[in-house]
Amino acid sequence: MPADESVYSYSAVLMGSPILLKLFQRDEALAGRVFNLIKHYEDLFTVNRADSEVMRVNRAAGREPVTVSPAVYQLIKCALAASLPAASAFNLTIGPLVKRWRIGFQGDSVPPAAEIEDLLTITRPQDVQLDDARRSVFLARKGMEIDLGAIAKGYIADRVRDLLRQSGVEEGLINLGGNVQTLGAPRGGWSIGLKKPFAGPDALAGAIEVANKSVVTSGTYERYFEQDGRRYHHILDPRTGYPLDNVLDSVTVISTDSLDGDIWTTLLYGAGPERGLTWLADRPDIEAIFVTKSREIILSSRRHFRFTLLDDSYRVIDCTA
Ligand code: AMP
Ligand code: MG
Repeated sequence: MPADESVYSYSAVLMGSPILLKLFQRDEALAGRVFNLIKHYEDLFTVNRADSEVMRVNRAAGREPVTVSPAVYQLIKCALAASLPAASAFNLTIGPLVKRWRIGFQGDSVPPAAEIEDLLTITRPQDVQLDDARRSVFLARKGMEIDLGAIAKGYIADRVRDLLRQSGVEEGLINLGGNVQTLGAPRGGWSIGLKKPFAGPDALAGAIEVANKSVVTSGTYERYFEQDGRRYHHILDPRTGYPLDNVLDSVTVISTDSLDGDIWTTLLYGAGPERGLTWLADRPDIEAIFVTKSREIILSSRRHFRFTLLDDSYRVIDCTA
């Protein structure tokens, strides 16, 4: 990494997250364009406000198809493809359950089981109908809601990378609160912290060094509440309607596109490390770091990153060793 004085950091709060842009030249105008681009996509994708293109689709559920802009259509199509395989824990129609649980928002509590049961009937990805010619999306059942929260940041991180590249930036980094996308390899690579789960915002379990790669983490420690001694976090199991419960505290994915990373963290979270590793055997472009509750750090492979352990209470299991 270059000496700190040559790094220019620009920050903002967007999409409910701290956003950090790092450049090696001072360029406020470019930083402004980056933040405007993020805002533009947030306005299209958000479901945390009354209005957005995705909210227009949701409001028309059970009534009529809605024509959307190319970016929204592309992202919904991609999220649907990730949701349809039977073994997938990714579900773009998880919206009604996310809204009911309110995890990470005020008023979160465990909903009655009967309500969860009811909501599961309107969270079927098969009920999303796309029409490529019209670029329209139709949610076939009343009450259905698309939620792109698990994928939007990845898509946006890639668009920021494209903008930086088009602007002549050779080395830079964008961090959208858990989704990091990098350009170039300043002094051999970018060092990205792997957070130590449930240990405060600055505690690190390790460091990941990459060049021209995205690093995306999904963790149960990011957003959760506790009730009756149990922890409920924000990644829901579409099969049960309750938070995914397995041996994992977090999953990090290293990939070229942050969109892939964002999808795969959810897929791998749902699969767990054992099954996840078998899926990854067919995908040399996707690499994962699983952090388990029993303090293991499992590296699926190390083709495109270097890993340094920073906390001795963890044990590294390197599947390529
Ligand atoms: P991420 O931070 O990328 O892991 O995404 C978490 C967000 O995705 C949640 O806050 C929800 O908005 C949404 N979400 C929760 N569970 C799922 C799921 N099983 N499939 C797709 N999106 C989900
Ligand atoms: Mg994700």
